[in-house]
Amino acid sequence: MEILVAKHMGFCGGVKRAVEMAAGAATDAQDAVVTWGPLIHNPQVVTRLEAGGVRVAETLEEMRGETFVVSAYGVEHAVLDAARERGMTIVDATCPVVIRAHSLAFKLVEEGYQLIIVGDHGHPEMVTVKEVLGEKVTIVHTREEVAQVRLRGRIAVMSQTTQSQENFRQIVGDLSLRTKELRVVNTLCPAITVRQEEAERLVEEVDTLVIIGGHHSSNTTRLAEIGRSHGLPTHHVEVPEEIDPSWFAGVQKVGVMSGASTPEWIIADVITRLREIDAARSPVAAS
Ligand code: SF4
Repeated sequence: MEILVAKHMGFCGGVKRAVEMAAGAATDAQDAVVTWGPLIHNPQVVTRLEAGGVRVAETLEEMRGETFVVSAYGVEHAVLDAARERGMTIVDATCPVVIRAHSLAFKLVEEGYQLIIVGDHGHPEMVTVKEVLGEKVTIVHTREEVAQVRLRGRIAVMSQTTQSQENFRQIVGDLSLRTKELRVVNTLCPAITVRQEEAERLVEEVDTLVIIGGHHSSNTTRLAEIGRSHGLPTHHVEVPEEIDPSWFAGVQKVGVMSGASTPEWIIADVITRLREIDAARSPVAAS
């Protein structure tokens, strides 16, 4: 079985930066270092960080300690205020690409546009923008949702940084047919679009796909969706233990991709597991 590993694997720049900032803060701090929810959408990395002294807070009461690290996707004002009120040092690991997208959203609203953002409801990046802009922004995830939006005046549309290129394209297309003039601002993160484009190429070359990354990672889920939308057997796994050897019966070529919050060590373990499965079924290895 041939294993084709994608070119773009492992942490994107924003995730790498956030993980390094949190680990660095834990090394420097005398007391607890806290994040609001998981720092990134990869439970294994979060567990390692916890072992290094980075605690996850789920409630405002748990927001106690020396340092608060803002995740790569940003954080709600209420949480930031709680950290400030308690005198915590703030380490802002918000990804610069997310900051740019948020700034553009605020600017578009200031300029008088009715703003529509294609994103995941409840994703921290969307929660923070909605918190500031309130009714001035509408978050939509599907074409059905955007069809329900009442359009008035000048319309601008942008995207959550980790959205699917295809979903954004379709919603922009739908909106363009319903308005005389539409301002489209492309805020898709380049680190995500290169992976999605690579997935579109890889699905043409392989019999099955293994996508490695957190089950709650939106960008990893998008890669799996690309595989499935082409009718390709696609398996989204977080760790090698989830892999079932029967998935590869009769498979000649397997493609391997990862989300932008998947660490190198898990990728290496998954590839090793795939090689073991291949060796176990190979007549040469068995003889
Ligand atoms: S995927 Fe893009 S926007 Fe998100 S953290 Fe990585 S670099 Fe930043």
